[in-house]
Amino acid sequence: MNSSLRKPLVAGNWKMFGNRAEAARLVEGLVASGAGSGPAEVVVCPPFVYLADVGRQLQGSGIGIGGQDVCAEETGAQTGEVAASMLVDVGCRYVIVGHSERRALYSESDDLVARKFAAASRHGLVPILCVGESLQEREDDATRTVILRQLDAVLSMSDIGTFARAVVAYEPVWAIGTGRTASPAQAQEVHALIRGRIGEKDATIAASLRVLYGGSVKAVNAAELFAMPDVDGGLIGGASLKADEFASICAAAGR
Ligand code: PEP
Repeated sequence: MNSSLRKPLVAGNWKMFGNRAEAARLVEGLVASGAGSGPAEVVVCPPFVYLADVGRQLQGSGIGIGGQDVCAEETGAQTGEVAASMLVDVGCRYVIVGHSERRALYSESDDLVARKFAAASRHGLVPILCVGESLQEREDDATRTVILRQLDAVLSMSDIGTFARAVVAYEPVWAIGTGRTASPAQAQEVHALIRGRIGEKDATIAASLRVLYGGSVKAVNAAELFAMPDVDGGLIGGASLKADEFASICAAAGR
C-alpha cells in the first residue's frame, strides 16, 4: 500500500442504478459489514435524490457520502443542475468531477470539468477528479498526453493549494464497466505520472495527494492494485452495488 502520509480511500459510485428500497438495503448491508470502521476511509456516491436518505442512514457508521457530479455555477437558472452548496447542505464531503461517462455522454470538456473542480473546492467539498484515456488513445501511445492534458486543465484554473484537499482518480475508460482491469504495473505508471505532475508544483502536496484507481475493481483484484506504491485506494462502480463485495474491497484498501 501507500505512504503513511495518505489514508486509503474507497469511493463507491452507484451511478444511475437501483431505487430507494434497494439503496436502503445496500446501506444496511454496508453498515452491518463494518466497512466504515476499518483503516480505509469509505464514501458512497448515490444518485442525488437519495443523498439525504442515505446520509441519514449512514450516520454513526463512519461511511461518508458524496455527489456524482456538481454544477460549475454557484446558483441561478440552471434547470436540472445541483450546486456545490446544496451538496454541502445535505452532508456531502466529496464530489466526483470529470467522470468519463460525463465527459463522453454529456460532452463535458476539460474546461467545464476544471470549473466544476473549482466550484467544489470553493465550497469545501473534496473533488474526486477523474482522468483517463480511451482504448484508442492507449493504443496510439497517447495515454501520457491525455492524462496530463486533463490534469493541466484543472491546474491552470485552480491554485495548486486546492490539491491539498482533492483526490485524483485514474480511470482508464477501457476498464470502466468492462471487466477489463489495468494491470497493477499499468496503474502504477499512470499514478506516478499524476503524482509527478503535482510534485512539479508542490512536493508536499504531491506526497499527501491520494490517487485512486478505478476500472473494474473487484474483491479478487483489489489487493494487488492497492499494493502499488502510488495507488491509494479505489473508485468503484459496479462492485459498490453489492455490500459484501464493496466491504471486501474496503478491507483490501486498509491492509
Ligand atoms: C466507475 O464508475 O467509476 C467505475 C470505475 O466503474 P466500474 O468499477 O464498474 O468499472
